[in-house]
Amino acid sequence: MIDTHSHIYSEDFDTDRAETVQRARKAGVEQIILPNCDSSTLPQMLALQAKYPGYCHAAIGLHPTSVKADYEAELAMVRAELMFNKYVAVGEIGIDLYWDKTFLDQQIKAFQLQIEWALEYKLPVIIHVRDSFNETMNALAPYRNRGLKGVFHSFTGTVDEAREIITFGGFYLGINGIVTFKNSGLAAVVADIDLKHILLETDSPYLTPAPHRGKRNESAYVSLVCSKLAEIYNCTPAQIDEQTTLNAKSLFSI
Ligand SMILES: [Zn+2]
Repeated sequence: MIDTHSHIYSEDFDTDRAETVQRARKAGVEQIILPNCDSSTLPQMLALQAKYPGYCHAAIGLHPTSVKADYEAELAMVRAELMFNKYVAVGEIGIDLYWDKTFLDQQIKAFQLQIEWALEYKLPVIIHVRDSFNETMNALAPYRNRGLKGVFHSFTGTVDEAREIITFGGFYLGINGIVTFKNSGLAAVVADIDLKHILLETDSPYLTPAPHRGKRNESAYVSLVCSKLAEIYNCTPAQIDEQTTLNAKSLFSI
């Protein structure tokens, strides 16, 4: 399995990061993608990638909740990193209207600029959408048929929204522990989507799958998402693993 979205570089793992990686390997996690948030998370993320080359892969981007008054300086950091370091994706980027709508215009601007850079560097994008599906699709509209590819990370939308994303072309849906939450309704939506559009992720340390809900999430628990998908698609976890690993390798060129 590949955990395509994990923040195990965060301070939540400062006391047991090596054991966390060990548990992931033992659970069958073959590789982990680390999406960036902003300049404050960059050093820890790069340190983790340096410690586990070929296993932990960093992405670079400015997270929408980190788009504040200083966003231009943050974007300059992203630009410099793209020029001087190697990354597997631009992310995470997108629009988040759940926490704060103050910087919506700046969020859109930062999102679109980083999409331009992803196209320039031929990298996929990792998109964060929260309470902003329409705004996100509107911001993406100018990039239709321009070879843009990526993932809608932590997808929690409707079947219609999933179809809209798939019709746009080039995009996968990242599915995490939310699919194990009985009240989420996500399992029924996922059942209607072809597995060739799905990626596994955890979003560690958040969104811990059942039966560990409420505790810290970690990459090893991606196996619980895999098992849940096997239940939904009426197949074996090995088959889910095989197809989603293929999807992740193809998207991130890893
Ligand atoms: Zn994230």
